[in-house]
This record gives sequence, structure tokens and C-alpha cells, in this order.
Amino acid sequence: MKPGPTLHAHVLEALPAYGAVCVETEGGVFEALLPQDMAARLERPEHWRFTFDPEAAAEDRGADLLVFGNPVLARFLDYGVGVGAACRAYIPGLYVDNPAAGRLAAEALSVHGADLVLRATRVRNVRFARFLFQVSFMSDAREEDLCSAVVDMSTGSAARRLEGLLAAKSLEPRPERPFPEVPAIPWAQAYGKARAEALGRLATSRGALLRDQERRRGEEERRLLAFHEGYREEQHDLMARYRRQPERVAAIEAKIHAGRLECECRIAELPRKYALRTELRLRGLLSVVHPMVYADCEVLRDHKVVGHLSPRWNPLDRSAEPAPCPACGGLSYEYTVKTGPRETQPLLCRRCRPRAGDEVP
Ligand SMILES: [Zn+2]
Repeated sequence: MKPGPTLHAHVLEALPAYGAVCVETEGGVFEALLPQDMAARLERPEHWRFTFDPEAAAEDRGADLLVFGNPVLARFLDYGVGVGAACRAYIPGLYVDNPAAGRLAAEALSVHGADLVLRATRVRNVRFARFLFQVSFMSDAREEDLCSAVVDMSTGSAARRLEGLLAAKSLEPRPERPFPEVPAIPWAQAYGKARAEALGRLATSRGALLRDQERRRGEEERRLLAFHEGYREEQHDLMARYRRQPERVAAIEAKIHAGRLECECRIAELPRKYALRTELRLRGLLSVVHPMVYADCEVLRDHKVVGHLSPRWNPLDRSAEPAPCPACGGLSYEYTVKTGPRETQPLLCRRCRPRAGDEVP
């Protein structure tokens, strides 16, 4: 596995978050000015030079080549874990005063059998956590990479779109405007979600590695069998030559038997040798906060309020986001009002509907 673009992106994003200044110079070499304590932890000068390109490192001996296996990279990742929880950044310059935001968020929802009326809009800061994992695929060889996953700490869902947008945004240590922050889910829950998300994303590379392992296991098995077959033929030739000496024939037969046993044992060991183990280690945590516009809506049926929904308008990619379901907490754009005289929870998302055995009006 080639070192993915994630390592490159992580180092360049993490440096400013840790208080360092970094610029790319010619020939793929980067120059960074590190805070004192960081330089000490990295065991590098405050004016630190590094590269991701082996050719550039060969030409410029003063630059560290950041690849797995280099202790400088290991210390860099350790430093991230050390400061991780304190690493919190804000995305400035987002257009939250858009007068159409509430309407756009409300219009993105559809509620069957009722009317959705926008009553108020609020701007709230929402926290997102980007977990960075070091991935090790271990078998007879070991391959490593980085993989990250972002979780929306207000809903507990994966925020895949934010990941792509983060790289293009500048981050600030302080909020631009002091909006109240939406309560966050516990870190342990977010970690579980991020891990599951990362494992899902690794399924493709894992599948490719598994197929490669299986091919190599098959090749080794065929090689062992061919070797044993050659040995057996050799011994049979010897037996033919000494056929008048029963003691030598018996000894040769014992050798053939032992050879066959050894071959069988080595083939039996192959599945263990080529088994693939995936290990994820948390190497960094970035907490990113940005404002969102919440559209507080009432759901009306026959002029009576039967529920509330609060979809969001996201100023980062200017999109309307789904609302959390009052019944299951899942995110959905589509709701149904349950009919019946005594419904304690009349609003149901698509996922809740079949479970509740509801009649769709
Ligand atoms: Zn639901």
C-alpha cells in the first residue's frame, strides 16, 4: 500500500492547529517553524524541514522523510495524541445571516398528511470531531496508513461531507461570534461511531489485501507441493537403484514418509501465516466548531400542532440538512403523521414507519 494522501494532509493540517507555521518550498520540501515545546518533543530544531517524497529526501539530507517507520513521524503522531483534546478550532466567515436559510431548510422536508410551518430560526454552534486513526494491516507483512472519520457531535452521525470541505477552510482558535453551542454526545459514543466509520471505509483496501494474501498463500502451497513431488521422485529413483537391499529401501521409504508429513504440516500452517489482522489506533483528534441555522417548525394537522421538527441549514456547503426524528433520533427528510385518536408520538420518519405498522394516509 502506498502511503495515502491522508498522511500528507494530516501533517499539513495539524501543524497550524498545533501553533506551527508551515510553507512548501521548492522540490517538495516543507519548512515549518515549531513552537518550542513541540520542537523539544519532536527532538527537532524549531526551524524544521521535512518532505513526503523519498527523492526529495535523497537530494536534501537536512529534510526528514515522513514515512511510517521514521521515529520523527511516530513522535509527531504521539504529540497529536498528547494535545488532542485541547485541539479545538472554529471555521470563520460563514454566511449565517442568510434570510432564506430557515425557509430553505423547512422546504427540504416533506411531511405527509400535515403542514409544516416555520416559526423561528436560531443560529447555534455545532461541534464536529475528526478522529485520526493509524491503520495497521498485519499478516506475514505489515502495512500502515492513516484514516480519518468525522462525527457530528450534536447528532452522533458521520459527517462525510465536512471532511472534504475541511481542507479548503482556514481554522481559527476563537469563535467569530459567540453563538450558544448545541449539547454534544459523549466522547466514547463519538469514538465508537468514528471507528465503525473508519473500518467501513477500509473495507475496500482490506478486501484487496485479503485477495492478495489468498493468491500468495495458494502460490506457496503449490510451491511446497511441487518441491515435495520432486523430492519423492528423487527418492523413488534411489529406491529403484537399491531395490535388492531391503534395509536401504526401508530407510528411503521412511524419508519419503517424513517428507510428506513435513509438507502437510507446512501447508496446514499457511492459513495462519497469511491471516490478515486490522488494527486501528487513535493518533489525533481535532474538534471543529461552526455555526448552523436551525429552522424550528411546527407540524400542523387540522390547525392543531401535532409535533415539532428542526431541520438545519448548513452555511458551510449551503445545503439543507435533514431533521432528527422525534421517535428514533435518526435523520430524515421525510415524515408521516400517524393517524389515530390518541397518538403520543404522531410524527414518524421513514425508518420508524414499518416498525410502528402505521397506515400511510
Ligand atoms: Zn424515526
